[in-house]
Amino acid sequence: MSIKVLSRVLPPSPPHFVGDGFRVHNFIPSSLPMQRMDPFIMLDYNSKFYFPPTETPRGVGAHPHRGFETVTIAYKGRVAHTDSHGGGGVIGEGDVQWMTAASGLLHKEFHEADWARQGGEFQMVQLWVNLPAQDKKSKPKYQAIAHKDMPQIPLDGGGMVELIAGEYQREKGPATTFTPIQLWNVRLPAGARFEASLPASFNTALLVIEGSIVVNQDAHVPTDHLVLFRNEGEEVHIEASSDALVLLLSGQPIGEPIAARGPFVMNSPEELLQAYEDFQSGAYGYLD
Ligand code: MN
Repeated sequence: MSIKVLSRVLPPSPPHFVGDGFRVHNFIPSSLPMQRMDPFIMLDYNSKFYFPPTETPRGVGAHPHRGFETVTIAYKGRVAHTDSHGGGGVIGEGDVQWMTAASGLLHKEFHEADWARQGGEFQMVQLWVNLPAQDKKSKPKYQAIAHKDMPQIPLDGGGMVELIAGEYQREKGPATTFTPIQLWNVRLPAGARFEASLPASFNTALLVIEGSIVVNQDAHVPTDHLVLFRNEGEEVHIEASSDALVLLLSGQPIGEPIAARGPFVMNSPEELLQAYEDFQSGAYGYLD
């Protein structure tokens, strides 16, 4: 086993709004191409941002997806989600929704009404996780993953790892995935350390949600920055320079061609065209 070689530390890109409810820094595909973190083909990060109280919840109205999964991790604030396949729910601090769009659906994503009425600080990550060609045609699915259902593994020297998906020290995260994925929240008080071993072939990154860290003993990484590793070495070392929360993403690349446009991620231009035609003909169901 050797140290996983660091590639780059990426600052958050200038933010933009998705609908009127999500003020995001796009790391993938703006700063990194989709293939680089395959199967993680999109990463939007709403860094801490204050939304004033409103009677009209902010968000994104009905829109389609096909060919992949959307994973929303709530750090602050509450999001309500509904889809045309009967999935939906509300997630709050620490919760995750894992929506498999696969063959296609419509969904909408808004700040939860009571939370919107209060307003407050909002912080969230949305990932798009690609699906292998054979699974792009499978039925849509919705997994509500409550924070209380995530195994919390205490670390020697303080802090813990919370598992959303994947496995650490023989504990398993609750999310069901189509390909091997590790998605963990690493919570470290200042001075605490964390070590993990992840295959060199897996695409691996860290997003610093809170605080600041030192990675592999030499790279200082501030809040809201993304650490990208090369596909060399296995061992990741993190030391918290201040109380820190780090999202760790690591996944086995699918390695298939990616044809992506707007809300659809397929394998070929022909399939993309079909996705648009099916959307126009109402094949994804109905959502008001
Ligand atoms: Mn969406």
